[in-house]
Amino acid sequence: MKSYRQHRCDKQHRDPRTFLRCAIRGLAWVEGAGEYAVIAWCRTPTVTLWQKPDMAQAALTELNALACGGRCTQRHELVHIHIETPHQRKDDAT
Ligand SMILES: [Zn+2]
Ligand SMILES: [Zn+2]
Repeated sequence: MKSYRQHRCDKQHRDPRTFLRCAIRGLAWVEGAGEYAVIAWCRTPTVTLWQKPDMAQAALTELNALACGGRCTQRHELVHIHIETPHQRKDDAT
C-alpha cells in the first residue's frame, strides 16, 4: 500500500482530513474518518476515509466496480496516511 507521510508544508497536520485538504490541490470533498484513504482522482479529487485497511480495500473494490461518477477514468487509489506527532509516534516500519 502506498503511504503519504509528508508533503511540502511546515504545518503539523493532526488528522488525515486536514492533511489531505492541504496535500491535494483542488480536493472536492473528504468523507468519513480514519487514516486509510481511498482517493478518486477522476475529475476533481474526492476522498473517503476509513479506520481499517480492509474497509478501505472494500471501498476501493466497490469504487472500481461501480465507477465514481459520470466521467470516471478509473484513477482510484488506496493510501495510508501517516500522521506523526511528537507525542504519539506509532510503529515506524521503515
Ligand atoms: Zn500541509
Ligand atoms: Zn473514478
